[in-house]
Amino acid sequence: MHGGTHETLTGPSVIERAHTMREAVLAARNSGRTVGLVPTMGALHEGHLSLLDAARAECDVTVVTIFVNPTQFGPGEDFRRYPRDLEQDVALVGGRGCDLVFAPSGDEMYRADHATFVDVGPLGSVLEGEFRPTHFRGVATVVLKLFLLAPADRAYFGRKDYQQTLVVRQMVADLNVPIDVRVCPIVREADGLAMSSRNAYLSEAERQRALTLPRSLRVAEELVASGERDVANIRRQMQQEIDRARGIDVQYIAFVKDGTVTPVERIEGPTTIAMAAKVGATRLIDNTLVVC
Ligand code: AMP
Repeated sequence: MHGGTHETLTGPSVIERAHTMREAVLAARNSGRTVGLVPTMGALHEGHLSLLDAARAECDVTVVTIFVNPTQFGPGEDFRRYPRDLEQDVALVGGRGCDLVFAPSGDEMYRADHATFVDVGPLGSVLEGEFRPTHFRGVATVVLKLFLLAPADRAYFGRKDYQQTLVVRQMVADLNVPIDVRVCPIVREADGLAMSSRNAYLSEAERQRALTLPRSLRVAEELVASGERDVANIRRQMQQEIDRARGIDVQYIAFVKDGTVTPVERIEGPTTIAMAAKVGATRLIDNTLVVC
């Protein structure tokens, strides 16, 4: 199809070519409209759609990008089996008023001899980075490429990926990227599990065990609400909650000054509690913000 743009009767335009994407965004901005960008890896759920809702509320034109970015997966991770369903994703975002979908192929995003990566510094090697050492350089690289290909006014990210929001904000500040980064709240299932495309990997039994993550975060929230300030005590009680369910392999529980990855020993201001755990073969992350 000409220019790689597919018009459908009811849904958004699906763009596959990088130059077409850039032209579409520049045309919108040149005509005085604001553009909101929502980068995703597809397999969309209400968490993603909440970002689109936020973008629609603030911007004239919304762009959702759908690209399973190979450079943010490590060896042995789930790049190949990551869920992909473009048709359903386009229908979902179309139903929520998205104007443009950017769904490039791997070859369109990365030249065969691609060699340039964004080094995110120490932020990339702690918490998630300890377990996924090349993850954030892949994230920062693809996000910067998407910001260049779809030079929007604002870009929307979920707090579900707390450290990712720090990486993106740092990159935008360090590299003078002219885009306003917005961070939206975590969307959860009715039973508390943070929505994630990877929840699809869970068996029914694992799905129940996975509730241990939000439950342990609730334990922490309640302790802080009741006046507990000592991180070691809170951590201990979270671990007790986790130990009640078998088969949860906690990778980290971190208490950090909100907006940073700096550990705290006492809750004395806005503090993010971030955790990662494997439930069977599936690696899940979750976090909460506590204030006192
Ligand atoms: P992903 O497709 O996993 O790369 O996620 C794309 C964007 O959606 C990221 O900014 C995520 O933080 C955000 N996101 C994913 N899950 C949720 C959720 N449960 N609540 C809010 N945002 C989310």
